[in-house]
Amino acid sequence: MITRAFPSTDTDALDILSNLMPILDFILAEALINRSSLIANDRWISPTQSSFSHAAILNAASSVIPELSMPANPIKPLLMLDRPFSTSIEPRQESAAYSFSAPDHLYIFTDGSKLDNRTGAGMVCLLNGTFFDHASTSLGLSPSVFQTELFAISMACTSITASPSARHTSIHSDSQAALIAIAATILKSSSVLSCISDLISASQHCLSLTLCWVPGHSNIEGNDLADSLAREGSGALPIGPEPFLPIGRAALSSALKSHFYSKHCSKWNSSKASTKCKTPLTALLTVQHKWLHPLPPTSILRPYSQLLSGHSYLNYFQHRTGIIPSPLCPACKEEPETSEHLLCRCPAFSSLRQRLFGTSTIPIALLISTFSPSTIISYITKTGRSLERPPPPP
Ligand SMILES: [Zn+2]
Repeated sequence: MITRAFPSTDTDALDILSNLMPILDFILAEALINRSSLIANDRWISPTQSSFSHAAILNAASSVIPELSMPANPIKPLLMLDRPFSTSIEPRQESAAYSFSAPDHLYIFTDGSKLDNRTGAGMVCLLNGTFFDHASTSLGLSPSVFQTELFAISMACTSITASPSARHTSIHSDSQAALIAIAATILKSSSVLSCISDLISASQHCLSLTLCWVPGHSNIEGNDLADSLAREGSGALPIGPEPFLPIGRAALSSALKSHFYSKHCSKWNSSKASTKCKTPLTALLTVQHKWLHPLPPTSILRPYSQLLSGHSYLNYFQHRTGIIPSPLCPACKEEPETSEHLLCRCPAFSSLRQRLFGTSTIPIALLISTFSPSTIISYITKTGRSLERPPPPP
């Protein structure tokens, strides 16, 4: 068993100690992602007869996760050979040396941004050496950086379409991924398709339209301004209901993790586990938020799992299982020797806790959420209390 806990530890506790999404939820999450792909490819067949079919079960599960009903970014692959605009990705040195000074040529710089999960896009226009138009917008929480870059290019198209004079025009983005996706012959993203549609419309208002890559953070004034505007957008509070852009695979995966994490917490809170393991494991579930926290090192995994589950070689559990006559703590003989007693309040180790944790007594939830597994096991080692199987009585 990967947690190295006692075999008597209950399954709900093992789910938390193993730091994995519960297996049935994991299967359901994977099935929902596949359902979403099938829908995007027009290959999902809704159930017509049995409400117990796999499809019916997935439809019911998806009804409580709003992101699964939102417009999706992946689409059925679409072939597109020609475009009325060109795309250019020159080597970094040549792109960085470009002067942006051709007379009556409209240069538009675009950029996307993601800061602390908030996203934004910005663009600025340059004509005859003067920056004359700019825009910045917030795009909410769900888009990827790739989508924000595409949206910024669409903002440039809006500016071109609104311009009264047709000019040779170039849009400069620092996202090679966005430019490559726009130039691809097979399109798989509704954000890319929407951006291409905007570029086709904009091209009708230009003498020529070219998309160019510009290296980011290379002291190119237009790119720096677009970067600032995109950051301004991602720093602002989004106005309106999410999502602002179609939901991508990463955002969907994140929404499913959030949903199943909440479900895991609710299930654990209503489980019949004893408070002796519920309190530390609730703290652990919170620390491990969304199963991102790594397991403790192998060398301390067994004692750590046993301490947190309460199923250990400490006297309280050994007495409960009828192996030893007394549950009392051998150090103070005042209370049963539970994990919480030994870790948090045994008077025999007050000064040790003061030295290691900065306090003589500490609530177990605070201990688990504040100190690393290594520090906690180091405290146990310093108490001299062994968490190994005791030798059989003589
Ligand atoms: Zn004690």
